[in-house]
Amino acid sequence: MIAHFWKSAADIASANDDADIRDMIEDGGSGAGSLENFFYFLKPAIPRRLQIYLRRKRARGIDRSIRRGIEVLLCKPVIEHVRSSGNDLSFIWFWPQGYDLACVITHDVESARGFRQVLRLAEIDEDHGFRSAFNFVCEKYPIDDGVIKELKDRAFEIGIHGVKHDGKLFLSEKIFKERLGIMERYAREWQAVGFRSPSLLRDTKALRSLPFEWDSSMPDWDQCGPHPGGCLTVFPFFLSARTVELPVTMMQDHTVFEILEEKDDAIWKDKYAYISRLGGLVNLIVHPDYIFEHNRLDVYRRFLEHLRSQDRLWSATPCEISRWWRERDQSSLADTGRGFAVHGPAAGRASVAAWSRIAENWTRALLS
Ligand SMILES: [Zn+2]
Repeated sequence: MIAHFWKSAADIASANDDADIRDMIEDGGSGAGSLENFFYFLKPAIPRRLQIYLRRKRARGIDRSIRRGIEVLLCKPVIEHVRSSGNDLSFIWFWPQGYDLACVITHDVESARGFRQVLRLAEIDEDHGFRSAFNFVCEKYPIDDGVIKELKDRAFEIGIHGVKHDGKLFLSEKIFKERLGIMERYAREWQAVGFRSPSLLRDTKALRSLPFEWDSSMPDWDQCGPHPGGCLTVFPFFLSARTVELPVTMMQDHTVFEILEEKDDAIWKDKYAYISRLGGLVNLIVHPDYIFEHNRLDVYRRFLEHLRSQDRLWSATPCEISRWWRERDQSSLADTGRGFAVHGPAAGRASVAAWSRIAENWTRALLS
C-alpha cells in the first residue's frame, strides 16, 4: 500500500509497514459483529423512535475527536528515507494538477419518499456547481427509469446501494451471492460502476470480491453509525485489484442531525479542515429522505457554499475519482537528471510534489 500511495521513484515500501496498514483496515472495517447482526435481526420489531433513542444514548458517551490513522504509518517510511538519504522525497501528487484535495457528494436513497426528492436534491447540487452520485436500493421501492436517465443526462452518477437495505447483505455467503447477482443485473441496466453498502455495514472479504470500479462502504472512522469503526484513512486505496475504496470521510447527515442533534455544519467544517491539511478526500453522504426536514437544507446549502469557496478543491463524481486514482497508480515517476517526470496514463494531468512541501501540514494534522 505504501508504494501505491506515494508513487515515488525511490523504493521506500516495507513489507512490515504494509502488513500493519492492512491489519488496521481489516480490524476497523471487518464484518458486522454478532451484536450488529442481532440488532438487525431484532430491528423490524423495534419502533423507529426507540431505535433513534438508543443510538442517541450510545452516541452521547462516544469520543468524537478525529482518529488519526493509517497516515501516521504512511509517512513513517518517508521520514526514515529523508533522514537516511538526506534527500527530499518527490512523488506524484495525489490529485490532478491544480488541486490540493478532492471531494465527492453522494446521496443514498433509502425509501420511496427519498426517491421522490431525488431531482429536487440534484437541482440544489447543480445550483452550487456540483455533480453528485445517487445510490439506489435495487428492490426496495419503485424506481422510475426516467429519473435515472435524467440524472445521467445531467452528468450525475448512479451507484448501487444494496438490494433490500434490511441489514442482511453480509449475513451469509448464500445471501451475499444471490444479492450480488441481482446487483450486477441492475448495475448493467443503469451503467453503474460503484457500490455503497446499506447502513455502511461491511464484511471486508465480501467487499474485496465486488465486481465494481469503486466501493464507498467504509467510513474512515465513525463510532456513531450502525457499524462502528472504519478503515482509518481519508485517502482512496485499492480494496482489491479491481476496486478502489473511497472512504466516507464526513459524518453522514442522519448522524449529524438525527443522532447528535446538531443544528449547524460545524462538524463538517472541522473535518474538512483536517482533510484539507492532509490533502485527502472529502466524501459526504446526504439522504434525500431526511435533508428536507427542519432547517437541514439551509445547513447543507451553507456547507456546499463553503466547499465552493475553496478554489483548489477538485469536485468530482466517485467514478472520476476512482479512475484518476487508478491512472495515477498505473503511472510512474522517473528521474530525468534534470528533475522528475510522470510517465503513464496520468502524465497529462499529474504534477510532481515533494514531501518537504507537505511535511508541516501533515505533522500539524497528525499531531494536533
Ligand atoms: Zn442507506
